[in-house]
Amino acid sequence: MIIKRETKPLLHRQKCSACDYYTLYRVIPAGEKATDTCTHCGHQVTLAWDNEIRATIKNTEKILTDLEEIYPEIKDLKEPGDHIRLD
Ligand SMILES: [Zn+2]
Repeated sequence: MIIKRETKPLLHRQKCSACDYYTLYRVIPAGEKATDTCTHCGHQVTLAWDNEIRATIKNTEKILTDLEEIYPEIKDLKEPGDHIRLD
């Protein structure tokens, strides 16, 4: 039997550096690393899954929540594959 470490996928919003849209990313932690994937274009990055990166993700979420005031369409980023472009 293979014992896996915690691998709880988490969806978070951020601007994708590959497709340039604001999209949902799915981060899948695997021990000390995590795979973060753009649910729109499939761009994938490997992160060191540490407190710093968790804080960064949380912070980006907070910034985008604040931006909802100006860009209500950010609220529509809910399902994997959702993407918007802000001017
Ligand atoms: Zn993308």
